[in-house]
Amino acid sequence: MSECLFCAIGTGDIPADIVFSDDAIVAFRDISPQAPVHVLVIPRAHHANAAELAAADPALAAALLETTGRVARQEGIAETGYRVVTNTGEGAGQSVQHIHFHVLGGRALAWPPG
Ligand code: AMP
Repeated sequence: MSECLFCAIGTGDIPADIVFSDDAIVAFRDISPQAPVHVLVIPRAHHANAAELAAADPALAAALLETTGRVARQEGIAETGYRVVTNTGEGAGQSVQHIHFHVLGGRALAWPPG
């Protein structure tokens, strides 16, 4: 099994509550939701963060962003508003070193985030 948690979710070795998947992307519910809707969107391929993904595979980066919109529509938060967040590095709170977009919604979201 991969040592990377999200690679293992991508292969199905670790189960997740999947809301969308295709051959390159998986979207699943965050195990510790910070909002009524909190979904993570990841590529199956390993890239550490958004900048590295965009440099290595811009088409996949675009597909990932497109999927955040799909998830928002599917979860019923596209009209009310939602936030797409990706943390990069320790100082920003990145705890899993495999690019993931958080899709958050279903409640009022404060700005700026902490
Ligand atoms: P970040 O801190 O930005 O790297 O986000 C990592 C996210 O992954 C956190 O919101 C965690 O709650 C979430 N997470 C960790 N393990 C799992 C898991 N097994 N299934 C779903 N979400 C997870």
